[in-house]
Amino acid sequence: MAKTAAKVTIVGAGFVGSTIAYTLVNAGTVSEIVLVDVDNARAEGEAMDIEHGSPFFKESLIHAGDYQTAAGSDIVIVTAGTNQKPGETRMDLITRNAAIVTDVAKQLKETCPDAVILVVANPVDVMTRVIQETTGFPAERVIGSGTNLDSARFRYLLSKKFGVDSRNIHGYILGEHGDSEFAAWSNVHIAGMNINEASDIFGGIMGDYDYIDIANATKNAAYEIINRKRATYYGIAASAARITEAILRDEKSIMPLSVKLNGQYGLRDIYLSLPTVIGQHGVVRILTPYLSEEEEGKLHHSAKVLAEAYEGLKK
Ligand code: NAD
Repeated sequence: MAKTAAKVTIVGAGFVGSTIAYTLVNAGTVSEIVLVDVDNARAEGEAMDIEHGSPFFKESLIHAGDYQTAAGSDIVIVTAGTNQKPGETRMDLITRNAAIVTDVAKQLKETCPDAVILVVANPVDVMTRVIQETTGFPAERVIGSGTNLDSARFRYLLSKKFGVDSRNIHGYILGEHGDSEFAAWSNVHIAGMNINEASDIFGGIMGDYDYIDIANATKNAAYEIINRKRATYYGIAASAARITEAILRDEKSIMPLSVKLNGQYGLRDIYLSLPTVIGQHGVVRILTPYLSEEEEGKLHHSAKVLAEAYEGLKK
């Protein structure tokens, strides 16, 4: 059953958190948004700036608050943490952000025990695991935005190559949201055709280098944006708002999200992105589509990178 009067809290009202709030208000998806930030003045300022557009949007109450104010939220989106500076990888943020999200998780455990937690802070797969293990919430209710944005970038780049609407291209970037992610070419479909068939029909449009170029352009997109404007926030805000909508409407949509594996492809107790059915209570089902041997190897490599990063935090 879809929620009609939904309350969403966003922890971290920086570039990403405030842009998610703006996107949600614009879409009219939720009735109340709480912005929580250690810099309360920032949260207040962002809420004021967004609410001043309310005569032009569907009305929704947005305000700054603390964890008590967040109580009763249907979804809590965690964006608190430092972002990448030019030249930094997502993994470079791990120690600083693990301390931040651990603190956030302890607060959420007390005041939002029934919420679905959507983690965006990077490195998102590890941060999602830290939050799930700190709160002890069921893994179904703690998910990371994972490669949903990367997959959107991938579909966008393919849409430019093929000259068709990106919404008609199905394809996933899987594994880590980071340097070990990979394009699951064996699952790309355009109007029911696999990528090779589609390429042939479009006049042999995909040459050998195109596969490499498109996968690399997807993987390096965040670096390219950060080098130019120091942060990325519009794309991730669209992705997080879409995930939020799918949860609140109990859509059972399939998205590549960072979820805790329990045996998929022989992997368990690790968070990484696989196509996932999501609904009102979070994860409904984690899907295991066919992957080529090479792709499965890349998935296992991602899992190893993420497991080592998580273990490194304990040292
Ligand atoms: P930002 O610096 O603009 O905002 C971070 C905010 O978190 C700041 O306002 C800060 O005051 C707040 N904060 C810090 N510690 C806090 C705490 N303990 N409690 C509450 N708030 C706290 O950074 P940003 O550009 O908004 O990025 C936020 C995070 O999102 C980064 O980790 C970034 O890498 C990540 N990100 C993820 C994706 C993705 O696809 N998953 C995409 C873009 C950015």
